[in-house]
Amino acid sequence: MEKTFESLLARMQELRDLGGLIGLATWDQETYLPPKGAESRAHQLSTIQGLYHERLVDPRLGELLAWAVGNKNLPDDPRAMARVLTHERERAVKVPKALVQALAEAQSRGLVAWREARKQNRFSVFQPALQRMLGLRREQADAYGHDGERYDALLEGYEPGMRVARLTPVLGALRDNLIPLVAALQAAPRKVGDFFAGRRFDSEAQWRFTLRLLGDMGFDLEAGRQDKSIHPFSSGQHPTDVRLTTDIEEGTLTALFSSLHEGGHGLYEQGFSEAHYRTPLANAPSMGLHESQSRMWENLVGRGRPFWTHYFPALREAFPEALQGVDLDTFHTGVNRVTPSLIRVEADEVTYNLHIVLRYELELLLVRDALPLEELPSAWAERMRRFLGITPPDDTQGVLQDIHWAWGEFGYFPTYSLGNLYAASLYRAAQRAVPTLEEGFARGELKPLRDWLRTHVHAEGYRQPAEELVRKVTGQGLTDTDFLAYLKSKYGALYGVSL
Ligand code: ZN
Repeated sequence: MEKTFESLLARMQELRDLGGLIGLATWDQETYLPPKGAESRAHQLSTIQGLYHERLVDPRLGELLAWAVGNKNLPDDPRAMARVLTHERERAVKVPKALVQALAEAQSRGLVAWREARKQNRFSVFQPALQRMLGLRREQADAYGHDGERYDALLEGYEPGMRVARLTPVLGALRDNLIPLVAALQAAPRKVGDFFAGRRFDSEAQWRFTLRLLGDMGFDLEAGRQDKSIHPFSSGQHPTDVRLTTDIEEGTLTALFSSLHEGGHGLYEQGFSEAHYRTPLANAPSMGLHESQSRMWENLVGRGRPFWTHYFPALREAFPEALQGVDLDTFHTGVNRVTPSLIRVEADEVTYNLHIVLRYELELLLVRDALPLEELPSAWAERMRRFLGITPPDDTQGVLQDIHWAWGEFGYFPTYSLGNLYAASLYRAAQRAVPTLEEGFARGELKPLRDWLRTHVHAEGYRQPAEELVRKVTGQGLTDTDFLAYLKSKYGALYGVSL
């Protein structure tokens, strides 16, 4: 076989095309697929995923990759492409086919058991399926290989390069800083009520507003679109075809923040360099870095005072009845209400990471086989009390609330917190580089942030691991310093306390 970069590139492009089609079929499944098409779609997806796997583990691809990774005559980008694909391929090769099948089966059983357990509001209904899934994940971690910490091998699938030994102290310190911060805000003289109680926001007007925001932030609606789904998500088939979804509820304005969130993901997908299209470099290096982009737009921009200085008048025009007599101050405080709550996806940006640390600590114990499953609900409740001072009244509002464990996704949760920490550090770097950033927001100019992110984060693609990229851009790696400073300054002012 002749070994040339062109022949390797053709294989990379084929894999990306197949991956794009898997994404498209999945997007359609969550948006427009008629109910009777569900079974045929499951077959189609399984066939195309099988093809992807077959092409990926093809020994000839392995030979081409080994040649390219070791070839010092190749330029940096082609060698980086080969490195990234080698990483993916080696993990795929290491898991025996029987285990892949057992995992797929455990996932669908896990999902069924989890739904039934939620219906009956009893964790014990889900417990056997979770036990089976955990056993298989430990087996999978061993197949990947690790230095005695199985969780590392699973985390690697979402956050390449991150390790428990690096993550635990950072998240532990974050937890120890957040617990007193939440308590101080609870004790503050200023009380913030539920702004949305009793208000109704027309869904058509919300839809129009979300599209306006996406356009203003620089999301190219000719290289992407927004639709509706039950759970908002984003899916990039290719940088010229990025699909976002949102979910509109008339009793709240969550759709606006969820469009900003998915729009942040979408800008990342649209911002990959043209030179990397259809190659492994047109990818984020980690889930955490991807999440940093969504959380930045949703929270640091979209819940900020400068942003609403510009958009609040337009919002009042769009919802004249719901916002009658409401001023900017009241609204801005209302969308930044801090309150310990049971459900992660509804949590504010101060309490949110405590929900994540709770899950991370429990996952780590479970993967290490250091916590008997029947004790999981009580371990959950104990941490909820210690971290947030509240107790779940039942399993559905506690240990059964997220779908992740039903899918066997152990190692995914910490990427949410990594996203928040990276977002704060990158945002601070953007402010240093563009001192007029927030003045611009107050005039509705959001694109300077998009442009800065495009140059320093998006266009880099997967040239280097996430933390290395962050270090290059901000001067430091993973840290909670910027995030905590941001929270203290913002919420100290909002709640009238010094933190
Ligand atoms: Zn996200």
